[in-house]
Amino acid sequence: MRRFVRPLVLTALATCCAAAFAATNDPVPRGKLPRWAVPQSYAVSFKVDPRQQDFSGTTVIKVDLKQASDHIWLHGHDLKVAKVSVTDAAGKTHAAKYVEAAPKEGVVRVDFAGTLKPQQLTLSFDYTAPLNQQLQGLYKVSHEGVPYAMTQMEPISARYAFPGFDEPDFKTPFDISLTIPNDEKGVANTRQIKDTPAGNGWKTLTFSQTKPLPTYLVAFGVGPWDIVAGPDISPDAYRATPLKLRGIAAKGEGHRMRHVLSETPSIIHALEEYYGFGYPWDKLDLLAAPDFAAGAMENAGLVTFRDWLLLLDPDSPAQYVRGSFNVNAHELAHQWTGDTVTTDWWNDIWLNEAFATWMQQKVTMKVHPDYRADLDRVRGAQGAMANDSLVTARKIRQPITGNGDIETAFDSITYQKGASVLGMFEGYVGEKTFQKGMRQYIQDHKFGNATADDLVDSIAKAADKGEDFRQAFKSFLNQPGVPYVQTKLSQKGGQTVLELSQSRYLPVGSKGDAKHVWGVPVCVRYGTADGSKVACELLQKAQGSMVLPGAAANTWVMPNANASGYYRFGMGKGELARAGGQVGKLTDAEQLAYADAADASFQHGDLDAGSLLAALKPLTASRVREVATAPLGSFGWINRYLARTDAPRAALRAWASSAYLPRMELLGYHRKPGEADGDSLLRSTLAGFLALDVKLPQVRTELLKQGDAALKRKADGRLDLGAADPDLLDTALGVAVQEHGKSAVGALIAELPKTSDPALRNAILAGLSAVEDPALSEQVRNFALDKQVKVGEMAALLRGGRDTRAQRDAMWNWAVGHYDQIVARTGSFAGGRLPALMGGGGCSQEEADRLQSFFKTRAKDVTGAERGLAQTTERTLLCAALAEKQDPEAILH
Ligand SMILES: [Zn+2]
Repeated sequence: MRRFVRPLVLTALATCCAAAFAATNDPVPRGKLPRWAVPQSYAVSFKVDPRQQDFSGTTVIKVDLKQASDHIWLHGHDLKVAKVSVTDAAGKTHAAKYVEAAPKEGVVRVDFAGTLKPQQLTLSFDYTAPLNQQLQGLYKVSHEGVPYAMTQMEPISARYAFPGFDEPDFKTPFDISLTIPNDEKGVANTRQIKDTPAGNGWKTLTFSQTKPLPTYLVAFGVGPWDIVAGPDISPDAYRATPLKLRGIAAKGEGHRMRHVLSETPSIIHALEEYYGFGYPWDKLDLLAAPDFAAGAMENAGLVTFRDWLLLLDPDSPAQYVRGSFNVNAHELAHQWTGDTVTTDWWNDIWLNEAFATWMQQKVTMKVHPDYRADLDRVRGAQGAMANDSLVTARKIRQPITGNGDIETAFDSITYQKGASVLGMFEGYVGEKTFQKGMRQYIQDHKFGNATADDLVDSIAKAADKGEDFRQAFKSFLNQPGVPYVQTKLSQKGGQTVLELSQSRYLPVGSKGDAKHVWGVPVCVRYGTADGSKVACELLQKAQGSMVLPGAAANTWVMPNANASGYYRFGMGKGELARAGGQVGKLTDAEQLAYADAADASFQHGDLDAGSLLAALKPLTASRVREVATAPLGSFGWINRYLARTDAPRAALRAWASSAYLPRMELLGYHRKPGEADGDSLLRSTLAGFLALDVKLPQVRTELLKQGDAALKRKADGRLDLGAADPDLLDTALGVAVQEHGKSAVGALIAELPKTSDPALRNAILAGLSAVEDPALSEQVRNFALDKQVKVGEMAALLRGGRDTRAQRDAMWNWAVGHYDQIVARTGSFAGGRLPALMGGGGCSQEEADRLQSFFKTRAKDVTGAERGLAQTTERTLLCAALAEKQDPEAILH
C-alpha cells in the first residue's frame, strides 16, 4: 500500500503510463511488504566453507513489478551487499542501490536509477554475510570440534541467509546451488543433479528446481555428513514412483539413524492415505542437527531435527524413542499442511502447526496405538488451557502487529489448543466428513496458500453445514480463552434435562472478563440403567439445555464425554464426590478431564487443597500411565507453593508415598528385558517425582546407587554413564549432584565436552540443573554461558532451582548480572521465552514487580520479549493470588 506520492514524479510519469506507482518516500513496510512487486522465482547460490566465519552468495530473483516504481521493498538482515543490479524485460541491466531501511527488522529497499514501468524484472545480488552464531538463517555448529553449516529459516530468518521476499505467501520455485570445499558434502531441499569442479579445491553442487516454496522452507546443509540410505518408500495409490529416503547426521553418527528410517515409510503411507495426495517432493532426507533452536523443522524434502530425536540405539531412553516417532510424524504431516498448502500469513500459523499436531496424533494412533496419542491430545489441550486462562493469552489467530507477534506465535495455543479445537470439530462433523473436507482443502490450495476461512469453508461444505457452524468454529479461532461450561441436572415434564451455561474460565486473582460466548459442541456422558450414554448439543449462547434420554433416576454426568471438547467444567464438592465414585466407568480420556475439572475448581477457589488431593487419589491407581500421573501437576503446585511448614509437607509426602511408591517398587529400578515402553516411561516419571520433588529417602537411595555407578571413572578416565538405567540416568545424576555437591558437579562439567551422544549430554545437563547448593548453582549457571554448552542446550541448565523463594532470588540476581551475555547467546526466536527463563516460577507481587521494572526499558529491544513479560508477570501474580486464597491447613484434612 502506498501512503505518499511525490507530485513531481507523478507528473513526469503521467506521460508514460497511467498505472499507479510508488515512490521512495513511501513508509518503510514493517509489517507486510507491498503486493505490487511479486517474486516469480529465485536462483540462490551459496559459497560456504563451514570452517570459515563468513559465506558469500549470489541471489537472482525474477520479480513481477505490477506498478511503476523507482524502488522495490524486500528483506535482508546482516547482509553485506557488494553489488546489486536490475535487468529489465528488454534485457538491459541497470545499476541499483541496496539500502537497509529498517536494519532491526531486516527490511531493505532496492533503489533504481529511475522509475521503471510495470514489467518483469530480474534483481541480482552479490553479498557476504557471517555464518550465524545464534542458530538462525545459515548458521554454524560443531560436532566433536568439526564445523558444519546448516539452515533454520522459519519464521523470518531466511533474510539472514539471502535477500528475498521473506513472507509465507510469496511461494515460488527455487534453484539452489552450493559451492563447497571438495572434502565436504552438501544437501538441500531437492535431489542433487550436478557436481562440477569449481577450482582451487571447490566444487559446485546443483539441485533440481523446487516446487513453489516460501522462503522459510528453503533449506540446505554443508559439512562432512554421514549420509545413510534408508529403505525406498514404496509407491501407492497416490504416488507412482518409489520415494528415496535418506538419513543425514554428523560424521560417525549415521548408523544410529536406522530406527527412525525404518519407521518413516509407515508414516508417509498413512499421510498419503489420509489426504489422498502423494508425497509431493522428489526425495526425503531427515537430518540430525548438531545444534538446533526448535525441536525440528519441516523444510520441504529436507526435514531437520535436534539430533537426539533421530540418533537412537537399542538402549535409548524410552521417551526419546517415542518422542522421535511423534516429532517425525509431526514434521512429515507438515509436508502437506504447511509445505504443500502454506499459511497465507503468520496470523494463521495454526493452519500449519495445529494441523501438524492433530495429524501427528492421528498417524500415531494408527501406527502405534500403544503410544496413546489420543491421551496426548487431551493432556496437550489441558496444558494449553493453563496458558489460555491468562488475560494475556494469544488467540489462535492473533493479529500480527510486529515481528514479536511472529516469533511468539509458536506456542501451546497455536499447537495444542489448535489441535484440540480441530479434534473437537472433527468429532462434531464425523471423521469421514472431516477427511473429505481436508482432501478438498489440499486439492484446492496445493502449492499455494490458504487462510482460516478457506479451511472452515472446506469443512463446512463437506459437512453440509451453514453459518452457525462457521461461526462456532471461528469463535475458537478469533477470541482467546477457555470456555467454562457449568452443568445442572433438572427434571422437566418427565425428562431429565441438563442445564448448561458458559463463561470464560478465569482462575482466582484474574483481572479478565468472564463474559465470553463460544459455539461449543458440548458432549456429555451420563448414567443409564445399564451403563452410560453420550448426548451432544452445540451450545451457542451463554445459557442452554439438553435432554438426556434414558437417564437413570439418580444419574451422574461427565460434562466432557471422551474429553474431546476444548472446554473446562467445574464441579462442586458434592458433584465431584459423585463423579469420583464413577471414575472407573469413565474412559481414560474422561478420567483426564475429571482430573482437570478438579484442578480447575481448585484454581477457581471452589475446592481446597485437601479435597483436591482426595479427588485425585483414585486416579493414581490407574494402569494407564497418563491417567496415573495426571495428578502430578496439581500436587507439584501444592508442594511448591502451599506447603511451607513441616506438617503439610509430611502430609504430602505420605500422600505421594501411598499413591506411587508401591508402583515404583513393582516396576523396579531397571528396565526389564522386553518390557512395554509405557513401563519404562512410568519408571522414569515416578523416579523423578519421588526422588527429586518428594525426596523419598528410599527412592533416593536406589537412585544414588546408580548415580554413583555412573560417576565412577572407567579405565579411559571417562565417566561410566552407561552403568545407570538409561531411563533413570538424568534423575540418578540429579540425586548424586544433590548428595555429593562439588565433586559430582565438577565431574559432570568436565565430562560434557567429551560427550557427543545427545541423550547422555541431556542427562548430564538435567543432572546439573538439579543442583541445590547456592555456590554450586552459580557455577552451573556460569557454565551455561560457556561455549562447551550448545546454544540450544543453555535453557536446560537454567530451568532448575526455582522451588523456593531463595532459589528464585539467586537465579534472578545471577540472570540480571549476566543479562547481556544471555541475550548474546540467545537467538531472536527465543526472545519471547527470556522473561520466563529469568523470572519464571515466581509467586509474589514483589517478583512480578522486579520483572516488570527490569524489562520496562529492555523488552522492546528483544523480539517477542514483551509478550513473554506480560505472560510471566500475569502467571506470577495469579500464583500469588491462589497461594493467598488457599489454606495450607486444608492439606491436613
Ligand atoms: Zn510444526
